[in-house]
Amino acid sequence: MKTRLANMLFDAKSLGGIGTTICMPELSVAVDIGFCTPAALRCDTLILTHGHADHVSGLTTWLGTRRLYGMRPGRIIVPALMLPVMERFLEVLGQLQGRPYETEVIGVDFGEEVQITKDTFATPFPVEHSGPSAGWALIRLVRKLDPKYHGLPGNQIAKMKENPPEGMFSTKLETSVAITGDTTAAGLLPLDSLVKEAKVLFVESTFVDDRRSFDQALLGKHSHLDQLLPVLEQVQSEAIVLYHFSQIYRVGEIEAAVKERLTDKLASVVHLLLPQEGDRL
Ligand SMILES: [Zn+2]
Repeated sequence: MKTRLANMLFDAKSLGGIGTTICMPELSVAVDIGFCTPAALRCDTLILTHGHADHVSGLTTWLGTRRLYGMRPGRIIVPALMLPVMERFLEVLGQLQGRPYETEVIGVDFGEEVQITKDTFATPFPVEHSGPSAGWALIRLVRKLDPKYHGLPGNQIAKMKENPPEGMFSTKLETSVAITGDTTAAGLLPLDSLVKEAKVLFVESTFVDDRRSFDQALLGKHSHLDQLLPVLEQVQSEAIVLYHFSQIYRVGEIEAAVKERLTDKLASVVHLLLPQEGDRL
């Protein structure tokens, strides 16, 4: 899937249990690296939701290939609880390569944030999954021009910006993107405002029909679409992307199950990150 949503470019690939990678090339950020896609290789920052194989297995390629071609060491951002083990993992990978990796690993706790670009920050939010896990929100500091200056010509505003009078701009934080990573539907409730107000929201939706029960979904700490619906109803996003579908489904079956369940209002904002048939086992 390569698409623009809410004026942001996404290059993403996902199949539950096999691999998930969501890239935002304009921010040079990849979230998870179950597949080391060309888009992920070009990203300088890698953010991980958790350590399961289908979310981290491309890490060795990301590190090794970037170094081989003289790209920046980059950095890996993980939930704080994952930090000690990720540091050890990187050390071992460096030993296997015969040279340590210079890639920085940063652990971020809930309520903390790490800078991504001049005005964009990443912050984790709680989810419910096995092992240390987090969803991630990318929040942006937006500067708004006070309405009383709206009628002025652009060149005059540009000049005033050099030394802006007090009150000319106000700032607010907005969530550009929230990505749940793996979680139960219940784990997203009560809905964090980082998630609820995200312009684009990626939600794990592993199971989509009654071929798997709620209990079976819960066993792997995954979401079932029927349980996600009350969550999605509360979201104010311009675009909601369902992803991480189980490989028990063919693409047509996912589309049919989703169509049957979504209200017209939800259907107008929901997108599907569908797997590629050839990736199924
Ligand atoms: Zn997982």
